Amino acid sequence: MQLNEQYRTLSQSYLFSTIAREVDAFRAANPQADLIRMGIGDVTLPLPAVVVDAFAAAVREQGEAAHFHGYGPEQGYDFLREAIRAHYAGFGVDLPADDIFVSDGAKSDIGNILDLFAPGGNTVLIPDPVYPVYCDTNHMAGNRVVFLDANRENGFLPLPDEGQDADLIYLCSPNNPTGAVYSRDQLALWVAYARKRGAILLFDAAYEAFLQDDTLPHSIFEIPGARECAIEFCSFSKTAGFTGTRCGYTVVPHELERDGLRLREMWLRRQTTKFNGVSYPVQRAAAAVFSPEGMAACRENIAVYHGNATVICDALRSCGVWHVGGENSPYVWMKCPGEGSSWDFFRLLLSRAAVVGTPGSGFGKNGEGYFRLTAFGDPEATRRAMARMVDLIGKI
Ligand code: PLP
Repeated sequence: MQLNEQYRTLSQSYLFSTIAREVDAFRAANPQADLIRMGIGDVTLPLPAVVVDAFAAAVREQGEAAHFHGYGPEQGYDFLREAIRAHYAGFGVDLPADDIFVSDGAKSDIGNILDLFAPGGNTVLIPDPVYPVYCDTNHMAGNRVVFLDANRENGFLPLPDEGQDADLIYLCSPNNPTGAVYSRDQLALWVAYARKRGAILLFDAAYEAFLQDDTLPHSIFEIPGARECAIEFCSFSKTAGFTGTRCGYTVVPHELERDGLRLREMWLRRQTTKFNGVSYPVQRAAAAVFSPEGMAACRENIAVYHGNATVICDALRSCGVWHVGGENSPYVWMKCPGEGSSWDFFRLLLSRAAVVGTPGSGFGKNGEGYFRLTAFGDPEATRRAMARMVDLIGKI
């Protein structure tokens, strides 16, 4: 038997376990402290009532002989794919519902998409800092990973380097961890670069619902020419609070073809072989997200998170701390004050202000000296946390 030796090359992700250990130690030593967590990437508001009602009604159908649903279509029920198609039409992207594949979340699809590419055979561009799933899945597949430097100079939005070869390119906008968002013109440069090289863009739009600026693109398919060079991943997790309910979707345009193979047909073959679809009640719940009441409720929840992001950004501005993100994203990426490392600031903030954030170095080497704050918390707690942080920064 031969194991996948690539697993030996994976770096252990100590980030969240180290944070948890240090927070536990702080709690044990300071049981009375009002600890505020601004490090989590999980939502905190519950599912909208209209979504719960659709979910519950579909569960009841499963208990009635006349309405029972067994195996569904692997690529998703038509009612949900049609609702997703209409959502795209809302920002001017006309997709056939057949190009949309429903799944149990973006993370699975981001990992599974590598089944379409020869293991070890590709050069993959991945931004640094980054959502760690892109790196780890490519290391598991034995691909050659080349990091794209995202830094303060380029606003944490790396652009193509004409001298760099690439087969696959990961882009995430609005970005996790930085909250930075590509403009239409910047994405057009990536589309042109990918088309010139025959490369494929893997575009992660998990945070598109957080865009407030109408000039910013929600989808890579808003860029002319993207259908011949891009696959897009999206999720109900942050849009509608589905982190624990699980539903997402991937768009593989039928125009996307390499060496006589259509990637949409390959993905359909892959999904029908290895996946049996998302449960009927979850798909009914997801479809309810796109109803007028569902959209209004999701917008209300996102407005709460945006309110938190504004509190965070205003506080950082008031003490002159450089930051990006927040306006069109639930993440704010700040420069650590003083000369210390990301972990030094993590420990200072925890010990002196009882506030937990995420050290930027956990997302890649370019994250060193930066820190991620999330806007998914309680508004009152966010205000208290930022008041303490401003006070602390004033003393550094
Ligand atoms: N993509 C990005 C950039 C994320 O931050 C996350 C989750 O945090 C995901 C994808 C995963 O989404 P899902 O919950 O749909 O698996």
